[in-house]
Parts: sequence; C-alpha cells; structure tokens
Amino acid sequence: MSVYKILTSPDPVLRQKCAEVKKVNAGVLRLLENMRDTMYFAEGIGLAAPQIGVSKRIIVLDPGDNYLEIINPVIVASEGEQNRSEGCLSVPGKVGWCKRAQKVRVTGMDVGGNNIDLEAEGLLALVLQHEIDHLDGILFPDKATHMRNDEF
Ligand code: ZN
Repeated sequence: MSVYKILTSPDPVLRQKCAEVKKVNAGVLRLLENMRDTMYFAEGIGLAAPQIGVSKRIIVLDPGDNYLEIINPVIVASEGEQNRSEGCLSVPGKVGWCKRAQKVRVTGMDVGGNNIDLEAEGLLALVLQHEIDHLDGILFPDKATHMRNDEF
C-alpha cells in the first residue's frame, strides 16, 4: 500500500491543466493504485492525480457504494442543478456551497483501455464534476459561495 502526501492549496501543481493519458502502461496502473490507497487512507470520496503531484487526467472516486477510476474523463452532457456543501482534501478545513449540474454524462477510459460512458446524478455527479475540475486546475472555492471553516 502506498499512501501519498496530498498537496494543498496554493501548491502550483493544483493549478495546472493536466495532460491526457495516451497509453495505460505500468506507470499509470501504479498511479491508480496509489491514488486509490491515498483516497481511502484520507477518507475522501474522490481524488484527482494532481492532488498527489501528478499532472495527468486521471480521477478515482467512491461516494459510498462503488469504486470508480476514470482515465481522461470528459463531461459530455449535463442537466439540472444542485447546490450542496463541498469540501476538498486539498483545501483542508474549509467547506462551501457550489452550484453543480444534477446529472452528468461522462466519457473516458478504464484501466483496460476500454471506453467508459457513464450517466450519474446527485452526489456521484457532484464528485465527478469536482474531480474533473481538478484536471483543469479548478478548486471548489473558485465556484463556491458562503465559504466557511469546517467545524465538527
Ligand atoms: Zn478536491
């Protein structure tokens, strides 16, 4: 198990536009494993590669019921609206309300190099939008209203 340090804002890597993955090679497989281990260790529900310092278009997520990993994810359609409180492992101690689409359709690639075409709504749709934003250097406070400290 490899748990990586999660970069926090204002680390400049978090603000870069990530590169597409051309080929799923051994390095990408290892990266996916490290991302999964790091996300679960940090008790997050999603993680994007730049959060562990790798500027590649890869996300992993598990909003509670199943684990998903997507290479080169793209939102191809979105619909509706939701407004929920969000946080981020790279912006510790803060939460804020973000306006997101209620439903999204996402395409990408799985570890086997097969195409993914996924429809999601609610929390899963939110996490997909949040993680895909990371790949373009966008952090949730950029979109949030009512930022506040996360007090338990
Ligand atoms: Zn995040």
